[in-house]
Amino acid sequence: MLVYNSQSHRKQELEPIEPGKIRMYVCGPTVYDQIHIGNGRTFLSFDVIRRYLMFKGYEVTFAQNLTDVDDKIINRANEQGRTAAEVAEEFSDKFIEQMHRFGILDPDIRPRATREIEAMQEMISLLIEQGNAYAVPSGDVYFSVRSDHAYGVLSGRDLDQLRAGERVEVNDQKRDPFDFALWKAAKPGEPSWPSPWGDGRPGWHTECCAMIHRYLGTPIDIHGGGADLVFPHHENETAQAMCAWHEPLANVWMHTGMLQINEEKMSKSLGNFYTLKEVLDRYPANAVRILMLQTHYRAPLDFSFDRLDGAMSSLDRLQSCVKNLRWAAEAAPQDGCLTEADRALGMAIDSAEKEFESSMDDDFNTAGGLAAIFGLVTESNKYLSEAAGSIETAVTLRAADALVELCNVLGIDLAKDSAGEELPGELVTLAAERAGYAGSSPDEAAEALLAARQEARAAKDWGTADAIRDGIAALGLVVEDTAAGARLRRKKG
Ligand SMILES: [Zn+2]
Repeated sequence: MLVYNSQSHRKQELEPIEPGKIRMYVCGPTVYDQIHIGNGRTFLSFDVIRRYLMFKGYEVTFAQNLTDVDDKIINRANEQGRTAAEVAEEFSDKFIEQMHRFGILDPDIRPRATREIEAMQEMISLLIEQGNAYAVPSGDVYFSVRSDHAYGVLSGRDLDQLRAGERVEVNDQKRDPFDFALWKAAKPGEPSWPSPWGDGRPGWHTECCAMIHRYLGTPIDIHGGGADLVFPHHENETAQAMCAWHEPLANVWMHTGMLQINEEKMSKSLGNFYTLKEVLDRYPANAVRILMLQTHYRAPLDFSFDRLDGAMSSLDRLQSCVKNLRWAAEAAPQDGCLTEADRALGMAIDSAEKEFESSMDDDFNTAGGLAAIFGLVTESNKYLSEAAGSIETAVTLRAADALVELCNVLGIDLAKDSAGEELPGELVTLAAERAGYAGSSPDEAAEALLAARQEARAAKDWGTADAIRDGIAALGLVVEDTAAGARLRRKKG
């Protein structure tokens, strides 16, 4: 399978370092607030990449850190009169909660920066010993970018051009303006740890590098993050690894494109800033996934609530199709004698599975994967309408299972949302009783009710048919006319 490597700017064959195994790391959040949906998109993209690698049979070890000490956390704590540790704990929990709501698999390893200080100090000492870092009188330790001849290799930047084109923080203790802090001396009241260079805390770029080395070993197969992390964060991570251990940090670097709102940059000042929680409070995770996966992970994603409504309809189409297939299969006599329509559906399943895999094999083309799934939805609906009356159980169930399984690889859990839609038996019984068509079980009651409505319609007795429909609607149910017959379902929204 082909994977785009941001370092080489091309797609390359995925060649695991250890056969059959993939070790991957994705930079986690700084836990000082709810994450925004742009971050949500990045974490979702890597969740799908991980799931697909597992689907292909790789044994994947996935690590993601929590940056739980940082200026932003300290500032938030000062504003709120709390300790930095309290703020970090609150937002670590909130982050994990939203990841679960979004259906994102837990990482195998979730290191927290504040518990990895020793590994970071070891790496910093090694860099100082090898002449790649220096401590200054204030107690800060800096990485010397000039000591690394390969600096700029990941982002394709040249230090001399950078100097001319970009402003950098002025600091007279640094030997070069692009030198970055590996260790920051503590200011009064800040969280700190003792070190050979004085009390302080690690720099952000140092955390990920030391944790990757400790938990996964370097180099790893895949290092991921948002495109905004390429420079300086990932450039600085890889520079440290090259200088400390004389090996690259990762074989393949993967970066997700940015998220825009209605084709504008998302920002608090434009008033179009959304947290992942706000979006998941309003829409099911499956719909948000469908929207995001319609765009390739490297491309900019245009997010809007109109598009999300569109994704809701797609999700509804998908769920209805699976339910109708299952329902038609249950109602069908087991004949086992294949008609042309049965064979055509069987071939549609095979080709959807093939198309899904070849799309995903091409640098995780989820839009192509979704197109294969929705193509099978169209074929299945066509089958249900054309084969009504001679439904073949096995092929019908196979179509439903294939849809559920392919969705599962994308983290779209059809069982999850439809569980909430289970038709409540009491309601059905009540609806049938009110209309005077009670049965001994909810299934029988529903059948009697639908049969009565059908009879009234056949007799063009619209008054009775409408009265039955209204009685059903008053209880929050609707009659859905499908190709395979009418059925009751819960009303949406
Ligand atoms: Zn990182």
